[in-house]
Amino acid sequence: HADIAMYRAKETGRNNFQFYTPTMNEHALERLRIEGDLRNALERDEFMLVYQPQVNLRTGQIVGMEALLRWQHPQLGMVPPQRFIGLAEETGMILPIGAWVIRTACAQNQAWQRAGLGTLRMSVNLSARQFSQQDLVQSIAAVLQETGMAPHLLEIELTESLVMTDVDHAIGVLRELKALGVLLSIDDFGTGYSSLSYLKRFPIDVLKIDQSFVRDITLDADDAAIAMLIISLAHSLKLEVIAEGVETDEQLAFLRQHDCDEIQGYLFSRAVPAQACEQMLRQGKCLPPQSAQDSDQPV
Ligand code: C2E
Ligand code: MG
Ligand code: MG
Ligand code: MG
Repeated sequence: HADIAMYRAKETGRNNFQFYTPTMNEHALERLRIEGDLRNALERDEFMLVYQPQVNLRTGQIVGMEALLRWQHPQLGMVPPQRFIGLAEETGMILPIGAWVIRTACAQNQAWQRAGLGTLRMSVNLSARQFSQQDLVQSIAAVLQETGMAPHLLEIELTESLVMTDVDHAIGVLRELKALGVLLSIDDFGTGYSSLSYLKRFPIDVLKIDQSFVRDITLDADDAAIAMLIISLAHSLKLEVIAEGVETDEQLAFLRQHDCDEIQGYLFSRAVPAQACEQMLRQGKCLPPQSAQDSDQPV
């Protein structure tokens, strides 16, 4: 195993091979360590979910939450998903972890509803391996049953590459999921390869404009054009559209002006632990009304 060979070479002091660089070694070590620790993280209860509000632009109110996975590593601290999801995917660990995510998110949503904090949508991200799992639909149905959550409140986020890899299979799975009554959205829309004709055939409900287009939406004419195109494409196909990564008032104003349905981003809130979400819901945190945003009057 190449990673281990490099590790040994370093250990015995024979670290002057031509291919050796400290960066590679550090990377390999981190990978080995994370892979090992990932196997025990679930039973050690080291995962947690944080939630990011999704806000309706017409009402200004929180209408949903996206559940985002965090790993509290005892030594490394908070490990972001980009550093372990890929590995979890390769090792298959994503299956039990993903199942935990769905169960925990649905249970949380039900708890909020029972506490009178509102009827919210809950979005969860699905990985490729989960999507091709035989009993995916059954296991989601079981979670809905167990938690008592209404199916139409669960939204499953998929990426373009995930549904475009095997289109016929994907359409079959998406139809089964739709039959359960859950909502389906395409995450990071515009960054992958997707054919417009398939988009029409997929039984999806929501497009999420990738944050890479939102970032310079008010500065870059191309990004603005792409965002506007996605909004009108979504509406033409009778889909909802939500913009990710909204950080500034200018981006918000642009999205309002161009009739985007919902936003998600640091401007309103980062992804935060359940308790902080509860506080937002109790306080009725919402966006300032549209008129104030669009007004030319000085404040
Ligand atoms: P994503 O699903 O596209 O989630 C959006 C990411 O953008 C989140 O990063 C979120 O914290 C971040 N974000 C939100 N608002 C802003 C903003 O205004 N500015 C900027 N710069 N970033 C913003 P996070 O939580 O680190 O997650 C990264 C990715 O990891 C997610 O992208 C998703 O693909 C994946 N992921 C997270 N949780 C899960 C999970 O439970 N299962 C799977 N399969 N993937 C997950
Ligand atoms: Mg997502
Ligand atoms: Mg995204
Ligand atoms: Mg992403």
